[in-house]
Amino acid sequence: MLELLLPKRCAGCGAVGVTLCEPCRTAWRRIPFRVEPRVDPRVPVFALGPWGGVHRSTVLAIKERGRRDAIPEVGAVLRSAIVFLSARGELPECSGIVLSPAPTRKRAARLRGGDPVTAICRATGLTVVQLVHLDASVEDSAGLDAPARRANLVGAVRDERRRPRVDEGVVLVDDVVTTGATATATIERLSVAGIQVTGVVALTAA
Ligand SMILES: [Zn+2]
Repeated sequence: MLELLLPKRCAGCGAVGVTLCEPCRTAWRRIPFRVEPRVDPRVPVFALGPWGGVHRSTVLAIKERGRRDAIPEVGAVLRSAIVFLSARGELPECSGIVLSPAPTRKRAARLRGGDPVTAICRATGLTVVQLVHLDASVEDSAGLDAPARRANLVGAVRDERRRPRVDEGVVLVDDVVTTGATATATIERLSVAGIQVTGVVALTAA
């Protein structure tokens, strides 16, 4: 209710009157870049921006302040990045791409009104398939180092019970890539299930 009464503010910088102001849009439009996380998922990993500045504040606004109005904006940026990477041959052709949001704890996502990364994936207009989730018992990995994160995730990535058949072009999408542990655990789990992931695209890289 409060949100209806207060003026809209830019999710990136707080400027009044818009969902995402022009300078923040420009910041989001930068060319996606390759990152090399410490835990190597053995597929190319790309990020749209750093875990800082406009990128970080926009992601936090969506995840923690309920700014779902910014989801279409970020979805459009993600789509452009994937089209760009496909055109360069770094990801499969867009028509064959299936986006799979990184696993989250289902209950936590439900309490927040749905997983924001899934919503951003859907906003790209590309095919989105939820392939995995995190077991409810997994601990929050914030504050853990790379080996501890990896250990924390082993066995915690679970298959969705009803999972459609996917043959090609799975691209894993996450909001932030840090150690690469989540991506690696997910890719290993999917590989066991016979699903090949061809790349990872993160909104931000820490
Ligand atoms: Zn702004």
